Amino acid sequence: LILVAYANEGPVTDAHLKIRETQLDVGSVGKDGSPGDVAVQNLWISVDPYLRQLMKQSDDGLYMPSFQLNQVIRSASVGKVVASANPAFEVGDIVSGFYQVSEYAIVPGGGLRKIDTSVAKPSDYLGLLGMPALTAWSGFTIVGEPNPGDEVFVSAAAGSVGMLVGQLAKIKGCRVVGSAGSDQKVKLLKEEFGFDDAFNYKSETDWDAALARYFPRGIDIYFDNVGGRMLEAVLNNINMKARIPLCGMISQYNQEWKQRFGVRNLLNLVGKCVKMEGFMCVQYLHRMGEFLEEMTGYIKEGKLKYKEDVKEGLESFLEAFNSMFSGDNLGKPVIYLGPP
Ligand code: NDP
Repeated sequence: LILVAYANEGPVTDAHLKIRETQLDVGSVGKDGSPGDVAVQNLWISVDPYLRQLMKQSDDGLYMPSFQLNQVIRSASVGKVVASANPAFEVGDIVSGFYQVSEYAIVPGGGLRKIDTSVAKPSDYLGLLGMPALTAWSGFTIVGEPNPGDEVFVSAAAGSVGMLVGQLAKIKGCRVVGSAGSDQKVKLLKEEFGFDDAFNYKSETDWDAALARYFPRGIDIYFDNVGGRMLEAVLNNINMKARIPLCGMISQYNQEWKQRFGVRNLLNLVGKCVKMEGFMCVQYLHRMGEFLEEMTGYIKEGKLKYKEDVKEGLESFLEAFNSMFSGDNLGKPVIYLGPP
């Protein structure tokens, strides 16, 4: 899948992303002076909102370089090793890494990690035990500093990150309310993921009033996935010494920065002594061991549920990608490329 034109504003379309067919000689692995390379057949591709920023001409504050034009885009993926010039990997190993969105790829072995499919199924390493989970875990437990009894609000709560934040909040003894963009998602939050309450932000006209209703005791932690006007409404309902992990601002990604919503009531942070902290999950890669141990523990105890939204084939990438902006995704968007 090739980026042929930058999408600086508005939705990404097939004028920006195109499928191009080429032959890849996997037998050539390691013979071209790259001794540590591994050839991978791609099985699962993760579709995530941050890719939107990488499809713009500038890196847009994300501190990751934009994709280069006419190059294959990359994403977190799970694949099967089909040829290896790297002693750490054997044919048949199931691996994960951040590499080309294509059916086959040749990847430096240093960028791959063998995954344990006895703990969780391969696609879980893109969601339940992958980047969205590291984001939920680090953002909530490290940046959010939860205490039992805290009042927690999560936006985009039915999404890849949000559904885990809510469940972690319950595990840590908090009361948690989520917002989502459909009644079906609200039902899922309350009935499947154990949120104490949830509301459809699209059917609320006054978000300040809605939050005051759902949080009569105010908000101690706001896990912000959307930014914009919802962040402003939260600041009018925030408690003394609250924490706001700024995870993402998906309501703003399709806008050029000059058109973005400017939050007007930041003064609440001063008077209420609030900690608002932006974070990137990659900051916490050094705590991967601790993260995996804690999360696999919860999985084994049956305390964590996860929902995937599976589409098939590279040609479904654009639909899966845009579903995150329309809210049509019901669970973590992943693309299946067929059996190994
Ligand atoms: P999701 O699976 O939550 O998909 C995105 C969801 O955002 C949609 O389903 C939609 O849900 C909601 N949404 C889209 N547009 C708007 C809007 N205008 N206003 C409110 N909600 C909207 O994605 P992820 O869980 O993967 O990502 C959630 C956030 O976390 C994103 O901002 C992402 O950039 C960020 N992130 C940050 C990371 C970090 O390291 N800091 C790492 C990973 C993700 P709905 O139907 O509820 O509207």
